[in-house]
Amino acid sequence: MSISEEQVKTALKLVKYPGFTRDIVSFGLVKSIHIDNGHVKVQLALATNDPNIPAAIKNNAESALRAIEGIRSTKVLIDIHAPPAGAGTGMATTRIPGIKHVIAVASGKGGVGKSTVAANLAVALEQTGARVGLCDCDIYGPSISLMFGTRERPTATEENKIVPIEQYGLRLMSMGFLLDDTSPAILRGPMVTRYTQQFLRQVEWGAIIVTTPQEVALIDARKAATMFDKVNVRVLGLIENMSYFMSPSDGKRYDIFGSGGGEREARRLRVPLLGQIPIDITTREAGDRGIPIVSEDRQSPVTKEFVRIAKGLRERLP
Ligand code: ADP
Repeated sequence: MSISEEQVKTALKLVKYPGFTRDIVSFGLVKSIHIDNGHVKVQLALATNDPNIPAAIKNNAESALRAIEGIRSTKVLIDIHAPPAGAGTGMATTRIPGIKHVIAVASGKGGVGKSTVAANLAVALEQTGARVGLCDCDIYGPSISLMFGTRERPTATEENKIVPIEQYGLRLMSMGFLLDDTSPAILRGPMVTRYTQQFLRQVEWGAIIVTTPQEVALIDARKAATMFDKVNVRVLGLIENMSYFMSPSDGKRYDIFGSGGGEREARRLRVPLLGQIPIDITTREAGDRGIPIVSEDRQSPVTKEFVRIAKGLRERLP
């Protein structure tokens, strides 16, 4: 019986990335699989400076592959890249006192669900025990505060420091809050833009890119990744939103925007695909009502996926 690609993937899923509980397949490290008459060749790509990591992965992958029935030979090739500058230690930028990690949620394209992902991921991270603040840098449409159902405005302390709003256990801030409701954004926009740019330049970021599986969104996701690379911001991974739709009437899965796009793009960018969020009516309704689905319904498959992503992120960002 010939060996299938699925069998090889299943075997590789048993191989954990050293120091992590996640496997090398879900981290998006597998670039190609060739199977020829029982001879299996697997190409992996890694970004690390630590020579022990590829050595351990190669060993474990080969043992896992050897367990496949009918296997005649295994070859695991690893393409090693230095991690992007800025990853790890020795950053030129500053850390904010009291804050361990600052994660930018970006998309390069509107409407793919950046705000929805940012809001739900923030709540999921809070549920895994992190203290989380969420800042909406969009000065023209502060959708985050709407998604959290609040019209409250932050107050200032006597030292003129802004006190963020608290909602669902999170601290919220929006650059939009700094704009006067009654005046057009453009009047005071430049000032806010200056603050935002300063904030962006001076803080040590990690980035998550949100995309849909469609080619048009993936092209913009790629541009966003290139931009982060240029400014030495480590891309922590991709989140594919609107990945599929599970129809409540027939229980079938529909790949509305195609399938596999996020996985392919993650592989191309050599970053993990952190998760896949389905298109879900209750997620949209909850967002419109100002309650992120992760706060509202712990049993929803969308909530479970966000919690899985949050746990994975916390493992990657200890
Ligand atoms: P962006 O911030 O990228 O412009 P939004 O998060 O505002 O995108 O999402 C655009 C619209 O799509 C919103 O109405 C939102 O509720 C909806 N939406 C986003 N993600 C999902 C999803 N997984 N399922 C259903 N609706 C979604």
